[in-house]
Amino acid sequence: MDFKEMVLPAEVLPAERLERMEGWGMSCAGMSYVYRPVNTRGVREILEIARGSGRPIGMRGAGRSYGDASLNSEGMLLDLTRMNRILEWDPISGLITVEPGVTIQQLWQYIIEDGWWPPVVSGTMFPTLGGAASMNIHGKNNFKVGPIGDHILSFQILLPDGQELTCSRQDNADLFHGAISGFGMLGVFTQLTIQMKRIYSGLLDVTAIAVGSFAEMFAQFEQRLPESDYLVGWVDCFASGASLGRGQIHQANYLDPGVDPEPAQTLRVTNQELPDTFVGTVPKSLMWRIMKPFANDPGMRAINFAKYLSSEKLGHEAKHRQTHAGFAFLLDYVPNWKLTYMPHGLIQYQSFVPAENALAVFTEQLRLSQRYGLTPYLGVFKRHRPDDFLMTHAVEGYSFALDFALTATNRGALTSLAAEMDALVVGGGGRFYFAKDSLLHPSTVARFTGEERIAKFQALKTQCDPEDLLQTNLYRRLFPK
Ligand SMILES: Cc1cc2nc3c(=O)[nH]c(=O)nc-3n(C[C@H](O)[C@H](O)[C@H](O)COP(=O)(O)OP(=O)(O)OC[C@H]3O[C@@H](n4cnc5c(N)ncnc54)[C@H](O)[C@@H]3O)c2cc1C
Repeated sequence: MDFKEMVLPAEVLPAERLERMEGWGMSCAGMSYVYRPVNTRGVREILEIARGSGRPIGMRGAGRSYGDASLNSEGMLLDLTRMNRILEWDPISGLITVEPGVTIQQLWQYIIEDGWWPPVVSGTMFPTLGGAASMNIHGKNNFKVGPIGDHILSFQILLPDGQELTCSRQDNADLFHGAISGFGMLGVFTQLTIQMKRIYSGLLDVTAIAVGSFAEMFAQFEQRLPESDYLVGWVDCFASGASLGRGQIHQANYLDPGVDPEPAQTLRVTNQELPDTFVGTVPKSLMWRIMKPFANDPGMRAINFAKYLSSEKLGHEAKHRQTHAGFAFLLDYVPNWKLTYMPHGLIQYQSFVPAENALAVFTEQLRLSQRYGLTPYLGVFKRHRPDDFLMTHAVEGYSFALDFALTATNRGALTSLAAEMDALVVGGGGRFYFAKDSLLHPSTVARFTGEERIAKFQALKTQCDPEDLLQTNLYRRLFPK
């Protein structure tokens, strides 16, 4: 399509491009003029349309951010999912160059049979690499290998004025460190070159460890850090008293060369894929409907309790081998599980707190949630390390991600609870993650980010996007003029 034909004044942007776009958590949505280019030339032309129309333009990958990070209500949205070609792959060095719409799923499926795995993946395989770089995503190995930005060697970025720059740690280094973590506010990634991780088997050695309290969860994490490749904790947020913070840890380790007798088999994509049925019979596509009647406080209390009991029953430590995809993307096991939160959706609240304060802050967050009668249905606990990207979220410490169900009446209470929890996090030297945020206040962002970083970010924004053409709902909410 020739986008030049479509340079029209704002009031006549074509109505057929108007679509209702939703944040992944289904708690926010807006109407936008959506464009889906297939190449850099198309992106350039759409940026010109935006400039001509006087409307801001935001970017969207797979729309897997929980809140409003990839929404631009009343404005234009550049959906990059059709720019999804793998441009270069070197199975000797493990270097790959991709367009921004390539998903984590496409990536691992493309490289695994050559004995490689993405160094950093999120808990779901559906994000695009443009979206992943923009948020500087972390995995269950963040404490060991840092965020995805640490593995990006270079990228091409298109600025709103049509200029395309190559950025790396050597060239345009400030923009390199700003655009990774810059939530799409500095330019459009059009190509990324990323170093993959060598693996010698399609399996991981996994140990499941039941823990009876938060203190035990922390102690086990600290003890296991030096010997683990991945660590993640699940928390039963309904448990209280001496059991507050109880749950289960999963530790996973790569297999050394020669340990897997059949690596060619285990590395095959078909042997990685998650099964289509649950316990061999129920089609996975039906699972969310079966789970729906339990998506309430009594149901979730029972499910969390049963999960804890079954983890305890396995003994304090249970070992097994699991595929990379099975371990990394457990959340994808039940397709559309978020629909159990219909009709009001869910909000994820994830905070990152330095190790010395994390136990106190997360204990108080759980107590507060229970006191408010807003117990999270899912709690996930991870270890992190700091990185040098400008607007990044990780700290030398821990994160706790809490899924809150929205109802017709609880948004006000949830906002008050989040404000109380924010104060604890900021007081403890912690940070937040824009990919997960829905409720932060600009004053909180200013406090945890610090004046110096914000000034640096704003200077880069003015340099790359002097007309403030690139905007999203999240940007307007958290960085108001
Ligand atoms: C079930 C689930 C589990 C998750 N687990 C994790 C996890 O373990 N770790 C973690 O870190 N995150 C996790 N996430 C969050 C997710 O990884 C991030 O939100 C990621 O950014 C989503 O990528 P996306 O392609 O969907 O981007 P979107 O959500 O569509 O957009 C994210 C941001 O990227 C910008 N953007 C998109 N494409 C480009 C581009 N080409 N150039 C510049 N900017 C662009 C957008 O403007 C927006 O600001 C999870 C999300 C879900 C739903």
